[in-house]
Amino acid sequence: ATFGNLTDRLVDTFKNLRGKGKLSAADVDGTVREIRRALLDADVALEVVKDFTARVRERAMGDEVSKALNPAQQVVQIVNDELVTILGGEARRIQFAKNPPTVIMLAGLQGAGKTTLAGKLAKWLAAQNHTPLLVAADLQRPNAVTQLKVVGEQAGVAVFAPEPGNVGAEDAAPKSFFGGGGGNPVKVAKDGIKFARDKQYDIVIVDTAGRLGVDAELMKQASDIRKAIDPDEVLFVIDAMIGQDAVATAKAFQEGVDFTGVVLTKLDGDARGGAALSVASVTGRPIIFASTGEGLDDFEPFYPDRMASRILDLGDILTLIEQAQKNFDEEESRKVAEKFLTDTFTLEDFLGQMQQLKNMGSIKSMLGMLPGAKGMREQLDNFDESEITRTEAIIQSMTIAERRQPKVLNGSRRVRIARGSGTTVTEVNALVNRFEQAAKMMKTVAKGGVPQVPGMGPI
Ligand code: GDP
Repeated sequence: ATFGNLTDRLVDTFKNLRGKGKLSAADVDGTVREIRRALLDADVALEVVKDFTARVRERAMGDEVSKALNPAQQVVQIVNDELVTILGGEARRIQFAKNPPTVIMLAGLQGAGKTTLAGKLAKWLAAQNHTPLLVAADLQRPNAVTQLKVVGEQAGVAVFAPEPGNVGAEDAAPKSFFGGGGGNPVKVAKDGIKFARDKQYDIVIVDTAGRLGVDAELMKQASDIRKAIDPDEVLFVIDAMIGQDAVATAKAFQEGVDFTGVVLTKLDGDARGGAALSVASVTGRPIIFASTGEGLDDFEPFYPDRMASRILDLGDILTLIEQAQKNFDEEESRKVAEKFLTDTFTLEDFLGQMQQLKNMGSIKSMLGMLPGAKGMREQLDNFDESEITRTEAIIQSMTIAERRQPKVLNGSRRVRIARGSGTTVTEVNALVNRFEQAAKMMKTVAKGGVPQVPGMGPI
């Protein structure tokens, strides 16, 4: 995970404090020094690290720690608070215009993930009963217009694209509209907004051109578009993996175009992710969304507090539960819980759960949000979705009776199933064991009335 290494280091640092009744100045110094090193190694900008550690140090030396019942825990709390602060403090959401359409402009370097984000954002907004229109004003990168159309099609939203000679024409494909613009991105953006107003789309997302590096022409174009369309939000899209360049890039865009919010992309990467921790505090602009994969659903509103607890491995139950709610039918989960309680959960149900799980997008990123997931990380890294496919094959090779009564699975049946599913008896055995353990575990969970996170059990 993006912060895997940082998390490990911070957790180790705090481990050294565990069990200490009182913290000496040397304890605090040592801790702060370790935190500083861990952040720098994670590519967090020096200016941010300096401020951060100074604040942590000051508070850790103060009353709130010396008077705390558990000083070590209090230090973790302080680090958590300060992480929330550098990540922007309060979560901020998109601000919608009083008079639609709300215009959202995307800016950032080429490859940052703008076009992909346009699709994600549009899909997310459409699911909330908005009617977004995507506008293709990236006329720089070959193929960007086509890519936006593809993304729009996948997201099921309309796209306004320049197509000289075809002004006003409508594509046969779901919903692509062609305007003029004659290769002028400013004009395309303006035409797109006019089109949205005429056709009553309530949100316009304008994709703009990026370059591989910051350059004056790029900035001027983005700034011209901004002036021409006066957007309600300008989102600066930045690849969390760009490392130390993050700060310079963000500052250049702030000077050249300015923006109202930040979107971090590629948070699923295994790079050091320091950009994520630097950009909000360096620019004073909030991070509004996070992008966590190539799929259109790998996207979520950004919450500084949740990100902080994820970095500190405090878990992210809230996000997890929200995701689960988004993907699972509540009625269905109630039925499943009932089955656990009454011992009537079968391999068929197990398969159903797995199939639902597959729809949840990246399983790894889901699991990464579980509390204590750090310890599971190794397991997570070994976990791949093809395992689900194999599990499916095994269960599908069973008769209905076997799926409902796994107890009947004797040796010869297991051999038959292994052969039928192209797996081995060991794998069949492992699955049956896992199923039994999961059923037992979920029964306990269901009994305890803990908020259900259906489907997580079988893993
Ligand atoms: P643009 O040049 O800014 O429009 O960038 P694109 O949207 O074309 O994205 C560049 C590449 O990054 C594409 O291959 C995307 O699939 C990929 N990408 C975008 N967002 C993410 C993300 O959150 N995670 C990962 N792993 N890849 C992403």
